[in-house]
Amino acid sequence: MIKILLLLAIGFVAWSAIRVYQRSLNKPPAPPRDQTVEDMVKCAHCGVNLPRSEAIYSAGDFFCTSEHKQLGKK
Ligand SMILES: [Zn+2]
Repeated sequence: MIKILLLLAIGFVAWSAIRVYQRSLNKPPAPPRDQTVEDMVKCAHCGVNLPRSEAIYSAGDFFCTSEHKQLGKK
């Protein structure tokens, strides 16, 4: 009886280890880091690079300030 319980315990540990491993495989590769690296846009007026979240988007172009948005594409 004890052997069966031991086997069940080992099986459960192995099964949960596999589950954790599979879950880590299914995870998309580091989404928060991707956002900070990838989302850099260029101001269409002065050409400065800035994070997309801080840029002003207008008619297909990004601008660093509303001033440059009004001045438009250079
Ligand atoms: Zn600018």
